[in-house]
Amino acid sequence: MIIDGKKVAAELRGELKKKVTELKSTYGEAPGLTVILVGEDPPSKIYVKNKEKSATEVGINSVVIKYPENVEEKIVLNKIKELNNDNKVSGILVQLPLPKHIDKRKVIETILPSKDVDGFHPMNVGNLSSGYDSSIPCTPLGCYLLIKKVKKNLSGKHAVIIGRSNLNGKPMTQLLLKENCTVTITHSKTKDLKVECSRADIIVAAVGRPKLVKGGWVKKGAIVIDVGINKTDSGLVGDVDFDEVYKVAKAITPVPGGVGPMTIACLLNNTVECFKKAQFN
Ligand code: NAP
Repeated sequence: MIIDGKKVAAELRGELKKKVTELKSTYGEAPGLTVILVGEDPPSKIYVKNKEKSATEVGINSVVIKYPENVEEKIVLNKIKELNNDNKVSGILVQLPLPKHIDKRKVIETILPSKDVDGFHPMNVGNLSSGYDSSIPCTPLGCYLLIKKVKKNLSGKHAVIIGRSNLNGKPMTQLLLKENCTVTITHSKTKDLKVECSRADIIVAAVGRPKLVKGGWVKKGAIVIDVGINKTDSGLVGDVDFDEVYKVAKAITPVPGGVGPMTIACLLNNTVECFKKAQFN
């Protein structure tokens, strides 16, 4: 089975559109998402454009604030503080990477945890790892929803996560632990990745190495989620050798068209969640 991330993401956006309409009629206003973009990084500009377009399509009030590459750090931090105090802004996202002179950590920690739609604030990271309610980073949330589409009850399953980034691997681990999976988290110093993978019922690869995971690494019937996006001479490929793994896996995400579309849909979901929580405070 090929897991169609485009389709699942479109369904999620459809549900969110309905929710936003309901929220608007109940509270008189729609959720608002403000994205801050610093500099001219071409992929970042494309991501921000796509986020803006998708947010608008579901009825979220979308605002993009752009700064030149050389903007002073304090200008960005002051803008975030202003947005923290603006009731019309439900969610704030600062597009990464940032130029070197801007401290990413300071930026993330300045965003109010209740408006942190990326789920990167230490408060949200801590809440997620404690099993409490929190904003969940968009890409792992998307992976989680795709896995749940294939199998509802994950209790007792062995999941192997490849990659331990704060963005992907670590939050993915927390989400699957919460589902009562036994989770192995692997990284570049893992001794025998092939052996670790061969024991997995679920593999999530978030590495950034083209076609790293081979068919012979994967147990028959495993669910394989490929987060990787790697530009190669033959186009975009994931961290999983799709043609090989497809033959043994029960379900696999393609690249493109798997995890990617879910990331933005989950950002919209997080924005709606932040809005809803703000109404009860
Ligand atoms: P990252 O911060 O560079 O982390 C990569 C992780 O992979 C690190 O933990 C690293 O180990 C591990 N690693 C590197 N080489 C390895 C190897 N040979 N064997 C086992 N582990 C290895 O990357 P990231 O931000 O998590 O992104 C990972 C990939 O996902 C990239 O291709 C990125 O473009 C893609 N991505 C996709 C989406 C989407 O929406 N689809 C969103 C975000 C990212 P160490 O910790 O030991 O260095």
